[in-house]
Amino acid sequence: MMYLYNTATHQKDKFIPQDIKRVTMYCCGPTVYNFAHIGNLRTYIFEDILSRTLRLYYPLVHVMNVTDVGHLVSDADDGEDKMELGAAREGKSAWDIAKFYEEKFWQDYDTLHCTRPNIVSRATEHIAQMIALVKTLEDKGYTYRTSDGIYYDTSKFARYDTLVGHARISGLQGGARVEMSDEKRHPTDFALWKFSPKDKKRQMEWNSPWGIGFPGWHIECSAMAMQYLGNTLDIHCGGIDHVTIHHTNEIAQSEAATGQKYVNYWLHGEFLILRSGKMSKSGGTFVTLDVLKQKGYDPLAYRYLCLSAHYRTQLEFSYESLDSAAKSLKNLRALAEQIAQETSRTATETANSRLWKDKFIAALSDDLNAPKALALTWEVLRNGELTAAEKWDFLQLADSILSLDLLKEHTPVQTELPPQVQDLLSKRAAARQAKDWKKSDELRDAIAQAGYIVKDTPQGQQTEKK
Ligand code: AMP
Ligand code: ZN
Repeated sequence: MMYLYNTATHQKDKFIPQDIKRVTMYCCGPTVYNFAHIGNLRTYIFEDILSRTLRLYYPLVHVMNVTDVGHLVSDADDGEDKMELGAAREGKSAWDIAKFYEEKFWQDYDTLHCTRPNIVSRATEHIAQMIALVKTLEDKGYTYRTSDGIYYDTSKFARYDTLVGHARISGLQGGARVEMSDEKRHPTDFALWKFSPKDKKRQMEWNSPWGIGFPGWHIECSAMAMQYLGNTLDIHCGGIDHVTIHHTNEIAQSEAATGQKYVNYWLHGEFLILRSGKMSKSGGTFVTLDVLKQKGYDPLAYRYLCLSAHYRTQLEFSYESLDSAAKSLKNLRALAEQIAQETSRTATETANSRLWKDKFIAALSDDLNAPKALALTWEVLRNGELTAAEKWDFLQLADSILSLDLLKEHTPVQTELPPQVQDLLSKRAAARQAKDWKKSDELRDAIAQAGYIVKDTPQGQQTEKK
């Protein structure tokens, strides 16, 4: 049984899916106008731990969107479209920008061992569904027209404060914090469909019953989530910044259109911050995974760092904390490697190992307590009373969630070997792990050419000079 903190109820709720044979989860995906920063990636790591834990219990359908149009510089419908801005910045078309940054996004996503969603939905490929949803809202009387688009009238939707609470919304209604265009009836109203500007040709625009233009960012997620997962989703996730505007607006649109509850469990990941403040793409103050790689970090050290903090606490990024995560990961792998060698990678399940595995699952099932799951892993590997085979059994489960390459063959670093040979050896270990024997043989030949003979022993690869 899982318990998840639900932003809508402000408490940990017992997770009860609508259908235990098909749990549905929608996660807000990247806006592909720039590289993802490691803050964004923290949110995807949290969602990955959630999806892996859910899959211990249920078959899961995980949908993620790619926002390739309509996300304006301000989340509240002001300013330019981030895609068109990215295109102007780089002198490429908005379509090329989207393609380039989406590809790059998936590379980072895979590198951090985040499990790919079952369905990836691009906004630009679902314009018809978005138009249909706006049409339904129009027919039901929730919309009005201004000179720059079709807007949602939030005063017509009584539960608009579901996620944020009444106080926050009435603060906004006062209009003190939001600049309001003359034609917008209430500060919280938002665009469902924006018209293309009259003086400038947009690269991404479509015909609609209201005129040529493009969808609002919020309608994109509602339309795509309901298209693939039905009117009511079990789980909807995103970063904490989405609570007040994006997800609040998604609820308003979806529930007004269907008359049904949109989401049963709302989960939000806290931010990764820098000592100097917020990490933001638009503010230009951001660190990417490539920067960490260039500095010589194993990307999974960043995953380790994220797992060491609970997803609902802010995490301050610093290179000192990344160094210490890298060191811990190295030590954890060394312990795992020792066990691998003692057991020749053979696991034995016993009542004892089952007990520790249950504790591990219980930690994750309690609102995804990854720090505790990580601490349990250390405890098991250092435990004097468990046999190596029991530990190896525990590790099969632990690394299926942590995914820190604890089961992989890690070639002990032999410092006297030239770096080129060490590199070939670790590539070969990875090939063998993936059972790619052809590549393994090719790499053995390359190692031979570099002057070394490699032998495979129960202790891993061993080399001697030719
Ligand atoms: P974006 O690509 O800006 O649409 O954001 C992608 C995801 O990253 C969303 O779920 C955001 O809420 C989340 N996000 C943005 N900034 C941060 C941050 N500093 N730390 C953690 N998550 C973030
Ligand atoms: Zn979204």
